[in-house]
Amino acid sequence: MDRHDPHRMPSVSGRYPAVNPHSGLLIAQDGIFMVLTQAFDGHGHSLIREDSPRFDGFPGVTLWMELPDGRSGELTLSPIHGDPRKEGLVDVPEGTECRLLGVSGGQPLDQEGRCPCGLGIYHRIYLTPQLDRGEVALICNIWGCQRSRVIDDRDLLSWIDY
Ligand SMILES: [Zn+2]
Repeated sequence: MDRHDPHRMPSVSGRYPAVNPHSGLLIAQDGIFMVLTQAFDGHGHSLIREDSPRFDGFPGVTLWMELPDGRSGELTLSPIHGDPRKEGLVDVPEGTECRLLGVSGGQPLDQEGRCPCGLGIYHRIYLTPQLDRGEVALICNIWGCQRSRVIDDRDLLSWIDY
């Protein structure tokens, strides 16, 4: 199945969004509405699957998470940037330091420096199967930290501070 086929893009209401043909990132013309349509861990495993839980119709980004209390399970993040909704292993105390893997039994997500929250580490979700460091979503491994950011074509597109 071809992830770059534009006919597989989810339809959205309102103004038709711009689509980066390389990363598959959907961007509304007002720059606010941004949806990840493909995502990969550092080994190229696809993290957006047709059977992933959906958020407003868009399949989410599914990771494998391990907690200090010994629990582990799938965590699905909303692919809509800035949307804090999650499904799966979500009964987690605020501030918990989570271990983030792409898939069960796989390797931890690649790290990219400290998060501005001062507690966590940014982990890379690649937007392309080429695993280009210039096209990534960065997420913090501290539960409750929402300082995620998306970098597309080496430009900082979004910075969300809650
Ligand atoms: Zn953080």
